[in-house]
Amino acid sequence: MSPNPGFLKLDLAIRGIVVDDSLRGRNDLFHAPTVRGPVARSVELVLPGEVLVSAPVDEAFTTDSPYSLLQEADRFYLQAGDERAEVQIVGAPGYYAKKTRSGLPMWRIGSSYGPYLAINPASRCAFSAKGSQCQFCDASTQGVDRDEPIPVEDVVDTVRAAFAEGAIDFVYLHIGYVDSEDSGVRFLEPYVRAIKRHFDTLVAVQLQPPRDNRWIDYIYAIGVDALSYSIQIHDEEILKSLCVGRVEQVGRQRYYDALAHAAQIFPNGTVWSDLIVGLEPTESTIAGVDSLVDMGVLPVLSVFRPLGDTDLRDHPMPDTAEVAPVFAHMFERVREAGININWVRDLSFAVTPFEARYFSDPDAAVSGALGPLYRSRLGNLAVRNLSRLRRRLRVRQVNDSFGSSNL
Ligand code: SF4
Repeated sequence: MSPNPGFLKLDLAIRGIVVDDSLRGRNDLFHAPTVRGPVARSVELVLPGEVLVSAPVDEAFTTDSPYSLLQEADRFYLQAGDERAEVQIVGAPGYYAKKTRSGLPMWRIGSSYGPYLAINPASRCAFSAKGSQCQFCDASTQGVDRDEPIPVEDVVDTVRAAFAEGAIDFVYLHIGYVDSEDSGVRFLEPYVRAIKRHFDTLVAVQLQPPRDNRWIDYIYAIGVDALSYSIQIHDEEILKSLCVGRVEQVGRQRYYDALAHAAQIFPNGTVWSDLIVGLEPTESTIAGVDSLVDMGVLPVLSVFRPLGDTDLRDHPMPDTAEVAPVFAHMFERVREAGININWVRDLSFAVTPFEARYFSDPDAAVSGALGPLYRSRLGNLAVRNLSRLRRRLRVRQVNDSFGSSNL
């Protein structure tokens, strides 16, 4: 087992974890919120070094995994061969079992991943309606299969419940494609305003680029703190073959142009774009990282997952050793460019430049060792400490629940 938490996170995300019999029946420890398919069921772990990972645990996906997760007394361990490391489990939050004022189950509205609550309040993605959806897209996670948007009040109820139990630190709103000049900015506005009015929190938003840059200025003006237009795949031909809608309805270049404009409007480090590792050659992902960094945009790398509901359910997973250099490259380029890496830093589903430091410098341990460049302009030291405290609370709740379980 790699002692490097960055490599370990990547390998776990790619290969998954076998659940030992000592944890059978403990469904409260595993996350299966709104997704289906062979890699839908996952466990969220805090690895040594406080690195957060979401790893698949479904048997259909993990048959070849060398990793197993087990419990001894009140402690959890990750084991590979003779080696083991103590880990913490971040269990499914309690609000998943609650309902909003209109009776909607909250697990259908918001999923918590590490420090954030992800909510897609929209109905069907317009790409899907045109038959041009991204081939890796899982309809149920993206709201593609919902006929009506979620009422603002139900979103507020869910955010309140998640904050009340200390499950999250900020809110992340994401929607698919909206076929209009603003690409959904006006749709999101009441949600952003309501969340800002009711909670002292940061709001991050991901959507497709608007046709006109003035909507980027507008979304900043209504209070959005961080913004993403995710290109996902840099290679032009592969993007065209896997994401017809992005290319035909929006245009590949529009993603980059909109990101470049947003990076001039928003604070340093608060505009990001995801690239999926495993759907294009590593050189192409590296070129994508370079394009984003050159325009002051923070790249975030997520590992491809062959979700059962998607056209790519049989696509092979990437090889950890082959893709690891992309992560080291990302960290080095972001550091050279002086992009703030503290805002987008602890994501269980993706590797951020903050975590990618482990690929470049295996001895990297604490953020304080990284120097003043990494001090946040948004005062995120406080947010980070709060995040850790809240995570520990959630971890403790999981551990405490063992005391009352029959296992
Ligand atoms: S933009 Fe692509 S990934 Fe996002 S919801 Fe639409 S089809 Fe799915």
